Amino acid sequence: MRAFTCTTCGQLVFFHNSLCLRCSSELGVDPFAQDMVVLVDPAQRCANAAIAACNWLVETPGTLCASCRLTRRRPADDDHPWLPAFAVAETAKRRLVFQLLSLGLALEPRDEATGAGVAFDLLSSEHEQVMTGHASGVITLDLAESDDVHRQRVRKKMSEPYRTVLGHFRHEIGHYEFTQLVGRDDLTEARALFGDETANYQDALDRHYRHGAPEGWTERHISEYATMHPAEDWAETFAHYLHIRGTLQTAAAYRLRVDGPDVAAIEPGVIASDPEELDPETIEQIIDAWLPLSYALNAVNRSMGLDDLYPFVLRQAVIEKLGFVHRMVRKGARPGLTSPRRGSGAVAR
Ligand SMILES: [Zn+2]
Ligand SMILES: [Zn+2]
Ligand SMILES: [Zn+2]
Repeated sequence: MRAFTCTTCGQLVFFHNSLCLRCSSELGVDPFAQDMVVLVDPAQRCANAAIAACNWLVETPGTLCASCRLTRRRPADDDHPWLPAFAVAETAKRRLVFQLLSLGLALEPRDEATGAGVAFDLLSSEHEQVMTGHASGVITLDLAESDDVHRQRVRKKMSEPYRTVLGHFRHEIGHYEFTQLVGRDDLTEARALFGDETANYQDALDRHYRHGAPEGWTERHISEYATMHPAEDWAETFAHYLHIRGTLQTAAAYRLRVDGPDVAAIEPGVIASDPEELDPETIEQIIDAWLPLSYALNAVNRSMGLDDLYPFVLRQAVIEKLGFVHRMVRKGARPGLTSPRRGSGAVAR
């Protein structure tokens, strides 16, 4: 995520802010400018501003923003117990949509007639059966995942080192992006790296929950779940690609560099990272910047008595898969979706 300032007073503000706490300017995110702007008219706000805690701007008053309009089903306006969880999910989803835009990957709302595009169903499993997952461009999230206690309980039960709402979205959109980014010509390479994505899913699921991940899985997979099925391996890898790119962008925005510790100086260069300089053509450039930063951030977290920020190990086979994702993203990116210049100062349109 990039850093933002209030253009009225220069205060540092954050992606979720809708108000400058210093000068009380009303703020909103213009996703296509990839910037935070000062509102000139409250009608610039998304129609879901209150219900989804949405701080994004719209071009036409009374309409939904580029993120909210992707949501197909959600709790009803009077479903008060679940509306806060819905807002948490939408907040994570905006981060996803914003990042994809920055990578040149715009999400279009699903056209029910043609099945093109993407739709989000953000629903409570209290009322109906809701399975978090992806099917033909429809991403479903059980809103119970917005609840920290529930999510941590499931995380422990599944022995996962990491489980967040944003992580769910990054994984599920990975399934969708496979259909968008991996062309017919790329399938041979994709299958060589991840396996055959058309393999029987139910068999794989049964095997995974009966026997667990195969021995030595960390050599080839980023997570235990990735071992379950080639499609899950791709989705997990895609999610990690977004984790890494997003966190490197944040580090660059704050000019966060790693140039140490000295104890590692026997391997000069290995522990240096300058994300600000990063305009990555290759996955190696990304990984070279990422590893030192992740070591440092993990150490910072442990200093606070917290778990590792990035509790994963990237082996060579996984880096090769990330490299394939990187090439697919670069190939599928549509430049010109965003223009930083549009975000300079207040917008009136
Ligand atoms: Zn301000
Ligand atoms: Zn919105
Ligand atoms: Zn999946």
